[in-house]
Amino acid sequence: MVRKEIMKRLVHKYGGTSLASIARIKKVADRVAKWRDSVPEVVVVVSAMAGETNRLIDLGESLSENPNRRAMDQVVASGEQVSAGLLTIALMDLGYDAISYCGWQVKMITDGNHGKARILKIENNRLEEDLGKGRIVVVTGFQGVTEKSEAISTLGRGGSDTSAVALAASLNADECLIYTDVDGVYTTDPRIEPEARRLNEITFEEMLEMSSLGSKVLQIRSVEFGGKYKVRTRVLSSLKDPKLSIKDELSCSTLIIQEEDRNMEEALISGIACNRDEAKITIPGVPDTPGIAHKILGPIAEANIDVDMIIQNAGIDGLTDFSFTVPRIDLTRATERLEKKVIDEIGAKTLHTDKNICKVSIIGIGMRSSVGVASKMFEVLSKEGINIKMISTSEIKISVVLEDKYMELAVRTLHAAFGLREA
Ligand code: ADP
Ligand code: ASP
Ligand code: MG
Repeated sequence: MVRKEIMKRLVHKYGGTSLASIARIKKVADRVAKWRDSVPEVVVVVSAMAGETNRLIDLGESLSENPNRRAMDQVVASGEQVSAGLLTIALMDLGYDAISYCGWQVKMITDGNHGKARILKIENNRLEEDLGKGRIVVVTGFQGVTEKSEAISTLGRGGSDTSAVALAASLNADECLIYTDVDGVYTTDPRIEPEARRLNEITFEEMLEMSSLGSKVLQIRSVEFGGKYKVRTRVLSSLKDPKLSIKDELSCSTLIIQEEDRNMEEALISGIACNRDEAKITIPGVPDTPGIAHKILGPIAEANIDVDMIIQNAGIDGLTDFSFTVPRIDLTRATERLEKKVIDEIGAKTLHTDKNICKVSIIGIGMRSSVGVASKMFEVLSKEGINIKMISTSEIKISVVLEDKYMELAVRTLHAAFGLREA
């Protein structure tokens, strides 16, 4: 739906691929200029050019195995500063009044958790002033400034999405348009299943599950912000011709909506997410007594490591097996802690780790009112000879942990079995 007549203030966000070269930056400038011709107030949030954040992380890590996190943020935040400046130059060259800001100048105030900071508040008086003067405001994504020590902070990988949605909330924008290298949210990652279908709309609740279970098209915190502050958020492509009419641009996109605004008939399954980001730890022969889960997982939580799935088998002869998953990057830290502190104390003999796992999840609000979805999922996987290692469910999703070589096969087979290809 085109709402041109009531759109007065918009936030655009462009990701790394959209800004990967000077030619693409020019294309972004053309697109922003086109929008500015019909909308009086436009704020643009930019990521670093494609590959730049990885390059900066590698630089820091080449100097130390455990680089200081505050200093590291200073390094990795610089990619966004460059693209904000470049886009502003391109817009001014087109004859538009534009100004660029870093996170600390806005100010995007965050907590002090460097590398994974959370936005606490945004002081946007400067932006309001510029918008009032008709300027296009370009803001660095991904970065902020810590409340206590005024250090540069970053919001975690993919954090520019969150900068954009948070700015849209704070500026009370009519819409936040997330421009990326796909023209919307698909039933699954189109890189894995080329027959994935673009969704015209998806609810915040479903998108939250998709993001948390591995669909990196939107950072999870951006979806949390959008849902909480009711930001009209849209995902669309920056790779199409910038001269395309606004109407045509919007007609090929995905709108993230509140559940009560849902226009479409409720599908049983809306999407499939997958990731290879986790590893499994199993401690066999754990005494089946009260307090054991706390003794195992307490030290993991103290180390600030997120635990995802947890399975404790029924005890036999007073002993049980205890398994859980942690982010793959934290596996070494987690096992070191367990070996040092826990294994002897609880009377277990050993622990096993498995890095070769993946998680595949089916997500859909329609699951709430339907039975048999889980058994269908398990049947489809068993027909392909895929063994399920762990299962977890919530009201609107079912996740399974599998051997990681089966991820693509599982996604494609489930995609077809749940009829996600058809319109
Ligand atoms: P940007 O650099 O613009 O932030 P990202 O690479 O972070 O872009 O996110 C876009 C990518 O997300 C797509 O190229 C696509 O491969 C991936 N993706 C994963 N799951 C989905 C999905 N369900 N729908 C669309 N894209 C998805
Ligand atoms: N440049 C940052 C990253 O690569 C933030 C982002 O792209 O959203 O993670
Ligand atoms: Mg991204």
